[in-house]
Amino acid sequence: MNADNARTAIVTGAARGIGAAVARRLGADGCAVAVLDLDESACAPTVDAIGSAGGRALAVAVDVADEASAQAAVERVVGELGAPTILVNNAGIIRDNLLFKMSADDWDAVMGVHLRGAFLMSRAVQQHMTDAGWGRIINLSSTSALGNRGQANYSTAKAGLQGFTKTLAIELGRFGVTANAIAPGFIQTDMTRATAERLGVSFEDFIAFSAKEIPVQRVGQPEDIAAMASFFASEEAGFVSGQVIYVAGGPRA
Ligand code: NAP
Repeated sequence: MNADNARTAIVTGAARGIGAAVARRLGADGCAVAVLDLDESACAPTVDAIGSAGGRALAVAVDVADEASAQAAVERVVGELGAPTILVNNAGIIRDNLLFKMSADDWDAVMGVHLRGAFLMSRAVQQHMTDAGWGRIINLSSTSALGNRGQANYSTAKAGLQGFTKTLAIELGRFGVTANAIAPGFIQTDMTRATAERLGVSFEDFIAFSAKEIPVQRVGQPEDIAAMASFFASEEAGFVSGQVIYVAGGPRA
């Protein structure tokens, strides 16, 4: 633990969207938060928001799919914030297309960020968790893990993350480390805005249409996911591991 006894958390893809909300929430929970994203300068709003709320945060550039970059980012966090014992693997991309139009590059890019990225970051961080005898790994899956038209690459990656989560839970449990996954439904972010654009509908209409299909009759907000991440990261969640929680306003969205 670092000097002020706060846990150090890493959140990937935290410049915007769900990752930014998770970072802000963990900051409010008292963690020192490493805000990781491709572009370090894009992390400034998240870092500033955490700072303004009285927390401590650090912007770090990373490409989670790149082995050397993931390792270097974790080393920078260790040096400047303290050894990380909370990791939220949130960075993600979509490259949607129907199977017959999906390029091998679009397949590889999605596997690279979601699966290879979560693997590389978890491997780079795990020693700090096992040394501390305490850790929390939280992976972002999706309702798309259950299958979604136009997302053969993404749904495969998000289903893969569920297997990854359960295996980490089994391997790392003896060291006080839990691993859980959050599977969001429709969350209002730039990612779902991009989906609306691909479908040729306005984001407002896409939200209104989607809300009607969701049992609680609204789409999710990044804060809905941050609340779940906060629980999984908490002391009191220590007996919850290897689980996938669908945060989707219903059994699936
Ligand atoms: P978002 O708004 O698109 O944000 C994703 C962030 O990840 C961006 O800041 C992006 O950076 C960053 N990123 C992309 N590739 C990266 C890489 N290689 N290394 C580091 N950072 C990288 O997405 P979101 O909606 O918040 O989604 C966050 C996570 O939740 C993703 O894993 C997504 O699959 C999952 N999820 C989202 C929804 C939803 O409805 N929104 C539903 C289910 C699951 P750039 O801006 O530079 O590209």
